[in-house]
Amino acid sequence: MRLHEYQSKSIFAQHGIPIPKGRVANSAGEVKQIAEELGGRVVIKAQVLIGGRGKAGGIRLAKSVEEAEEIATQILSMDLKGLPVRRVLVDEIVSFSKEIYLGITNDRTERKPVIIASGAGGIDIEEVARQSPERIIKIYLDAPFGLHDFQTRELAIGIDLQRELWKPFNAIAKGLWKAFKETDAAIAEINPLVVASTGMLIALDGKLVVDDNSLFRHPELVEIRDLDAEEPVEVEARKYGLSYIKLDGNIGCMVNGAGLAMATLDIIKQNGGAPSNFLDIGGGASADKVATALRIICADPQVKVILVNIFGGITRCDEVAKGILAAQKEANKNIPLVVRLAGTNAEKGLKLLSGTNMHTAASMEEAAGKATRIAAGEKK
Ligand code: GDP
Ligand code: MN
Repeated sequence: MRLHEYQSKSIFAQHGIPIPKGRVANSAGEVKQIAEELGGRVVIKAQVLIGGRGKAGGIRLAKSVEEAEEIATQILSMDLKGLPVRRVLVDEIVSFSKEIYLGITNDRTERKPVIIASGAGGIDIEEVARQSPERIIKIYLDAPFGLHDFQTRELAIGIDLQRELWKPFNAIAKGLWKAFKETDAAIAEINPLVVASTGMLIALDGKLVVDDNSLFRHPELVEIRDLDAEEPVEVEARKYGLSYIKLDGNIGCMVNGAGLAMATLDIIKQNGGAPSNFLDIGGGASADKVATALRIICADPQVKVILVNIFGGITRCDEVAKGILAAQKEANKNIPLVVRLAGTNAEKGLKLLSGTNMHTAASMEEAAGKATRIAAGEKK
């Protein structure tokens, strides 16, 4: 779950990280009022769950209350990379001399959290990482011990931070670590953290991505989740307890179990095909859940064929077959299905599907082959 900038910065502020004065608004009228309170010179920032808003025109500076209202009207009617802007953050303008990148994430290879800093922060940080990786400083952390003073000092030196700012930088990095840990974040990032002309370090942007698997212990975060701003298909899938991830290909996949789902993607690729999604319907899925899963797969216009690969254990193949039949009835889209059912009640399931125009397969290999040929435009 990704939080909006204004939500992330408010959590950072609770951990002692300085942020600009400002408030979120959903109308130009409200923006006008906030701009008046802040003295007219404000930055107006689209609150959408994507990066690179600056480059996409979603961040603009206003020199007066009137200009703020005008810009707000424009931004609030914009689409940023396909996402409508429903809210803007209105912050006081901060002038600065240096932009720093500071972020914490988990490094899966090292199996440790890593804190990353760069003196070349700002909107081109990806470019910096590619072109001059030596300007990115990384320190691996031991989760139980957290972040030590000597480590933040190493970062401060690495990014050429002036000596007077080491102390506030230490406090900010530690605040970020606490925010990362307490929210069970996958990413906690400030870009840019600026050296303001007042001499202070201030977080101008904030990004928190919370691990979905930990949301059960963060009701306060679930409450502020902005479902309107997320991919509708993924929201729908989550509601039914389905793990769905959109991919680029044209073979839809409905599988039970994450391991089998991954194996299915591999075998499709080995056959020269390209999966359009990862979808794990979980154990013991009901016909209703299966039908929802199929609807979600079919919602992707790229899908040319659907491969159903079920190994029945707790999941009963006849339930799966019922779900397929239910979904097919309402969807009335003519997407061919290749079905491989094995395990609990497989014969019952296959019997329910016989007499329909579905393709069946006895093995995964055969199913993947058929699906790939259909996706490529061959009959079978
Ligand atoms: P992002 O593009 O989505 O990462 O949005 P950011 O919040 O990081 O803003 C992009 C850029 O806009 C920053 O790197 C700054 O250069 C600039 N910016 C954002 N807020 C302010 C501000 O208050 N004052 C000034 N001068 N520039 C700002
Ligand atoms: Mn940013």
